Amino acid sequence: MKILVLGGAGYIGSHTVKALCDKGVQVVVADNLLTGHKEAIDPRAKFYLGDLRDGAFLDDLFAQEQVDGVIHFAAFSLVGESVFEPLKYYDNNVNGTRVLLESMVKAGVKRIVFSSTAATYGEPERVPILESDRTCPTNPYGETKLAMEKMFHWSAKAYGIEFVSLRYFNACGADESATIGEAHQPESHLIPLILQVPLNKRPQVSIFGTDYPTKDGTCVRDYIHVTDLAQAHILAMEYLMGGGKSDIFNLGNGVGFTVREVIETARKVTGHPIPAVEEGRRAGDPAVLIASSQKAKEVLGWNPCHDSLEEIIASAWAWHKSHPDGFTEGAGK
Ligand code: UDP
Repeated sequence: MKILVLGGAGYIGSHTVKALCDKGVQVVVADNLLTGHKEAIDPRAKFYLGDLRDGAFLDDLFAQEQVDGVIHFAAFSLVGESVFEPLKYYDNNVNGTRVLLESMVKAGVKRIVFSSTAATYGEPERVPILESDRTCPTNPYGETKLAMEKMFHWSAKAYGIEFVSLRYFNACGADESATIGEAHQPESHLIPLILQVPLNKRPQVSIFGTDYPTKDGTCVRDYIHVTDLAQAHILAMEYLMGGGKSDIFNLGNGVGFTVREVIETARKVTGHPIPAVEEGRRAGDPAVLIASSQKAKEVLGWNPCHDSLEEIIASAWAWHKSHPDGFTEGAGK
């Protein structure tokens, strides 16, 4: 089996590439390195530098590498930035995926696993969230991911492409080797920001909103280990290879933690007091996001096994401690 991973130099992409290589799958990575890191790509994978909006690049790639399927991570993913620069998100995420699908149709590549997000739901009607629940994104990032899902849906009908869309909740943690991990520039995610305090990179962490209708007033999220996400992509590709039909799956642990609980767990893991300051709400944050991942468990046989928050934060801590400045090379650094 040979798989093309688009965006394989990014956070979840690089963990999936490593997991595929560990399974003996032949992996081809394409990445424009705008936000990814060359150093994050497993050396067992073959790397092509290029952009998915470049149709000629993709046509050449599909001609050179006879791939059995595509796993697509190549998208911008900063919620806040998407609000200020929506067209940047429509161009890369939606237009890029259109170019990719055109190239796949030409090359006769029929299977794709795609990274989607809980942001497609917006403010949920209820928790845990089911895949069939209302989708009403509250920011352009979620809108573009939903538009991509719809493009796959209609392309599946028109061109016989089968897709699996994986709606992640809060991806976190790092590979147990601590050689790859989260390294966003700028960082906006809670766990890496908390861990910057014991690394002496910031004096304190901010708590965005303390008046939510939750047990301690702070937002509740479903934190899912990146290694478990990587396994879900492999299972999804195997599902499609086995004749599985196009479908959408949530990926989370089904357990919610408040921001205060996450900070408290990080204090325990690092042994550092990690001062926190209470601030106002961040725009567009739903109070509670918790996944029902029952469908992924039943249909894909997915079984997330790193479900303790302490273990998740400990793995992130091992990565950040050994790489306080993230990766040393790559345009995204
Ligand atoms: N958050 C926070 N302080 C920060 C960053 C995030 O309180 O410095 C909160 C944020 O409001 C949300 C939760 O932590 O409720 C997780 O945010 P993150 O950006 O990690 O992921 P998101 O839920 O936006 O995908």
